[in-house]
Amino acid sequence: MGNVYVLLQLLGVIFIIGGFYSGQIIIGIVVGLICFIWGGIGYRKVQKEKKLEKNLIPCPYCKEMIQKDAIKCKHCGSDIEPAS
Ligand SMILES: [Zn+2]
Repeated sequence: MGNVYVLLQLLGVIFIIGGFYSGQIIIGIVVGLICFIWGGIGYRKVQKEKKLEKNLIPCPYCKEMIQKDAIKCKHCGSDIEPAS
């Protein structure tokens, strides 16, 4: 999914360059910046979600996904010994 936001940022740059070439500089910059910022925010969000997913492990008792360093399962309430 992260690639969509990279493309959006690229589209923003194209809009800005296209704006300069076609004489529609202000429209190009406004639309281009919106695409660029939107893409940047989205990309960061995806990276953050990926990082969170990496910290999840299945609970040894109920197999629901929980935080790696959790000491108690939020799903079944079992005490869990830290992996490390
Ligand atoms: Zn559990």
